[in-house]
Amino acid sequence: MAGEGALQFYRELPKVELHAHLNGSISTATMKKLMARKPHLDIHNDMTMINKGQKRTLEECFQMFKIIHQITDTAEDILLVTKDVIKEFAADGVKYLELRSTPRDTPAGLTKRAYVETVLEGIKQCKEEGLDIDVGFLLAIDRRGGPTAAKETVKLAEDFFCSSNELVLGLDLSGDPTVGHGKDFMEPLDKARQSGLKLALHLSEVSNTNFTVSLLF
Ligand SMILES: [Zn+2]
Repeated sequence: MAGEGALQFYRELPKVELHAHLNGSISTATMKKLMARKPHLDIHNDMTMINKGQKRTLEECFQMFKIIHQITDTAEDILLVTKDVIKEFAADGVKYLELRSTPRDTPAGLTKRAYVETVLEGIKQCKEEGLDIDVGFLLAIDRRGGPTAAKETVKLAEDFFCSSNELVLGLDLSGDPTVGHGKDFMEPLDKARQSGLKLALHLSEVSNTNFTVSLLF
């Protein structure tokens, strides 16, 4: 099997995607829509994209995420991104998807709680529109925020775990692996587990070579 036929076969094959970064799954088409909304930022494709075959250092990747955060700073942006990402995974034959993202307060006034609400709203709207895909969400803890921010995120996850109708599955420890120490997060993560939340440990990822250790347990 080769060429178009193979592509079609793999696209139609039912798949699960257990580790999708919301802001790392934005397509070129969605990025164009976001850039058009914020022309004053003067952001170009090559600042937000890693094309096939390209390599970036870990530092460059985190720099890129900073720029992506700038163009996804309102509820409207987050809703657009969530829905587009889900639709594109569905079009690619994914039947079960776990999205993970770090709740953010943004300069545009979005709170961490509103960020999570907006992602969950996007998931709900896709379901109402009849997309053939089940989606769950993991709130990511950025280790750069330290244990205090981690505790806040755990609290947020606990609140939504109870109220989101099983859309919130758990937490994902993530962020720059060169910052801080994993053991600093044992206490909040342990508390999360006691509340019934699942945990993913996201230890290291480099450029487009994926070295993630992401285990849900
Ligand atoms: Zn990852």
